Amino acid sequence: MQEKGNISIHTENIFPVIKKFLYSDNEIFLRELVSNAVDATQKLKRLSSLGQFTGDLGDTTIEISFDEQAKTITISDKGIGMTAEEVKKYINQIAFSGATEFVEKFKEAKDANEIIGRFGLGFYSAFMVADKVEIQTLSYQEGAQAAKWICDGSTSYEISDSDKTTRGTDVILYINKESEEFLNKARLEEILAKYCRFLPVPIKFGTKTTSEPDGEDEEGKPKYKSVEVDNIINNTNPAWTKAPADLKDEDYLAFYRELYPFAEEPLFWIHLNVDYPFNLTGILYFPKIKNDFDLQRNKIKLFSRQVFITDEVKDIVPEFLMLLHGVIDSPDIPLNVSRSFLQADSNVKRISNYITKKVADKLGELFKTDRKAFEEKWKDIGLFVKYGMVSEDKFAEKASDFVLLQTVDHEFFTLKEYAEKVKDIQKDKHDHVIYLYASDMTKQDSFITTAKDKGYDVLLFDSPIDGHFVSYLEQKTEKTQLKRVDSDVLNKLIQKEDDKQLALSEEESGAIKTLFEKAIQKENMKVEVAALGEDEMPVTVTMDEFMRRMKDMAQQGGGMGFYGALPDNYKVSVNGNHPLIKRILTSTDEAEKENLAKQAFDLALLSNGLLTGAELTQFVKRSVSLID
Ligand code: ADP
Repeated sequence: MQEKGNISIHTENIFPVIKKFLYSDNEIFLRELVSNAVDATQKLKRLSSLGQFTGDLGDTTIEISFDEQAKTITISDKGIGMTAEEVKKYINQIAFSGATEFVEKFKEAKDANEIIGRFGLGFYSAFMVADKVEIQTLSYQEGAQAAKWICDGSTSYEISDSDKTTRGTDVILYINKESEEFLNKARLEEILAKYCRFLPVPIKFGTKTTSEPDGEDEEGKPKYKSVEVDNIINNTNPAWTKAPADLKDEDYLAFYRELYPFAEEPLFWIHLNVDYPFNLTGILYFPKIKNDFDLQRNKIKLFSRQVFITDEVKDIVPEFLMLLHGVIDSPDIPLNVSRSFLQADSNVKRISNYITKKVADKLGELFKTDRKAFEEKWKDIGLFVKYGMVSEDKFAEKASDFVLLQTVDHEFFTLKEYAEKVKDIQKDKHDHVIYLYASDMTKQDSFITTAKDKGYDVLLFDSPIDGHFVSYLEQKTEKTQLKRVDSDVLNKLIQKEDDKQLALSEEESGAIKTLFEKAIQKENMKVEVAALGEDEMPVTVTMDEFMRRMKDMAQQGGGMGFYGALPDNYKVSVNGNHPLIKRILTSTDEAEKENLAKQAFDLALLSNGLLTGAELTQFVKRSVSLID
């Protein structure tokens, strides 16, 4: 048989168009062709298990090879093969109709992935890298005649009998000039490792040398010899495809190492396994977080029936869970369509909700079964949980039972427990409960100590997400305010009915204020006389909670540009009840007055870590002269 024909499409010169549009991603031709080979192999296996194919399946390893001289790459499978009729139907009609539709509808498209799966361009992606494509194929059906199809990238093809004697299909690509980079072992290996690493049928790419036991030497020691064996590039049975009951911790850890050879051991993992109302399997790992959000290297990988698709899972996985590692495999995710479509897709939404729920359930379970271990891991888990709570209402609902508040003394409380703990002692005269917190235990030590001396509790919020989490907590917890310990003097942070009385007269107060203003001489330092305990600091420097939060947000690019541009404004609270202030007031030596005021102010700056440079030098000098 020999036949020439024209592929019936309306658009001439389809291949230049495909090439042009898909050029940036052209390495995926291999993924598409190997996937077809896998499909063909699995179809045959299914027919065999249904009794519709009774022949010998034999070794069904798929083989990828290349010939640098001939400039060809060949993908060979031992799957169902095709008859000439089937080639005409599947290759000429089905695949080409997809290609036509593509050219018509997606002239503007830029992303190859967007187009390929959507229009079944799989096979034709071969023309991204090849001038000419040849198919040699023998159907599994008894007595079938092998067929050969050749197409040179125009719309005409040639089909004839082939002398292929073994079942299956060889696709031979005659690589074009611009794509010669693919005629390279390392490059092909790289692509296979990326896309085909977990495909369910063994894939051979050349051979490799390993050593094998070879008896014993004269001294009775085991001997080894080098042997050439098939280089199988994939693990056909990756952990996520197995039943959770069949896996031990070690298996999960081994799979993690397989995915991310350079990562630290994960904290724990979740095996996802659902087949209704959508099909999804996968394993998500909770990594140890070393620094802030530097987590971009080891991303979640998305597969569709074990074919790697992408590690850009942004719209499928809720954003806070992108911190996780691992794999998700779902044939139900419309992988290759545009982003806006993905966001509107109800399957995608359901999948995203399912993952969120699974993660929340797992965390809840860990908390319940072993709270101590949960607390120990909190440093790492906390980031996910808080990020999740501020960004996903559904997650927040569940997580409010196990999110932990950590105190500066390294104690942990649930939201409920903590509210109970401080509800009486930290209630102010307006009936608000004030949660005090520190963001830096070293810098804020003097404030923490003052608060603790008063019997108050101080929380620690020192992770990058905590700024947002603090606002979140405040919104969600009724009649509760969160204030950083250094945002005012303690009496002002938690105002009580029985606040201390100021021991100074109005006139004395005014005099002290003027004196300090003169000694400090800084525009951004606002002096105020306060009635604090005699044992508290004579002077305290603070930055207002609201102002600081706005500035923090501006710094993080939260759209508070106006606040970001403001200078740092501080409040200087002079403790009118402190003996030193009385001494300053009663002293008759003007120079001493000023010196003491400066000294008291510098001490306040010092305890905030704000005293630096020339001012610090002056302070040291003054201190020396004072103790002389
Ligand atoms: P899709 O795989 O999305 O259906 P393709 O363009 O990749 O689209 O392939 C078109 C059809 O050609 C396939 O559905 C299949 O029937 C047939 N085909 C492609 N490659 C092979 C192969 N290696 N063995 C058998 N049939 C194949």
